[in-house]
Amino acid sequence: MKLICPVCGQELKQTDRRVCCAQNHSFDYARQGYLNLALRTKAGAGDEKRMVKARTDFLHTGAYGFLRDTLCEWIRQEHAEVLADLGCGEGYYTSAFPVKEKYGFDLSKDALKYAAAHDKSTAYIVASTSRLPLPDACTDLAVICFAPVFEKEISRILKDGGAFITVTPGPDHLFEMKSVLYEHPYRNPEKSSVSLVPEKEELIRQTFSAGPEDLANLLTMTPYFYRTSPEAARRLNSCENLQVTAEFILRLYRKTSPAR
Ligand SMILES: [Zn+2]
Repeated sequence: MKLICPVCGQELKQTDRRVCCAQNHSFDYARQGYLNLALRTKAGAGDEKRMVKARTDFLHTGAYGFLRDTLCEWIRQEHAEVLADLGCGEGYYTSAFPVKEKYGFDLSKDALKYAAAHDKSTAYIVASTSRLPLPDACTDLAVICFAPVFEKEISRILKDGGAFITVTPGPDHLFEMKSVLYEHPYRNPEKSSVSLVPEKEELIRQTFSAGPEDLANLLTMTPYFYRTSPEAARRLNSCENLQVTAEFILRLYRKTSPAR
């Protein structure tokens, strides 16, 4: 698959440690091996580093391993040659995907530093998933795991007959943890934000035992972090151990050829 220049849209050609288009817009590979094609990167690097560390530490416990296995199974059934992971983070899922040609996109440099250093089976690229540096109809399969879904952009990069898989939290995801944090914990909405009808849909769940360190990591890596009072965080900190539900909804959507 070819990448395109985020400035002018022309094909990027690879030279030694950089890529360059015919108009001479050039972009360097980072030391860790990822490519930065973002025109702007967001601030808040300190926060991001802490989140990356929390997420990798937590994922290494294997608590979400069953999600990774299910995703790999769904991907295997598609027999894709080219896969784009949109919002790939530290590459925990991406690295396992059984596809020969894989691309992971994320806006977080810190996440991709980790991903590129630990997974050589994927090309990691800093870019916005709302405007991907990819030509039209170049991808068989896209995966969007806990990341915003930009339907039009996904449809643009998918080949006809290609598909995309979304993963969203199930209604009861982390409910026990939310019950410690909030007086009135709510269940996640089950509805999808995608306008298409999924070809396939599955809810998977498992419970895991979370110790104090896991709970702290979970809080740091989720959006709850910003909505939690110091008092609630202390309540969670004082939990010795909590049985927590991990629940996910996987959906597969197919791009069909436009009607003639
Ligand atoms: Zn260019």
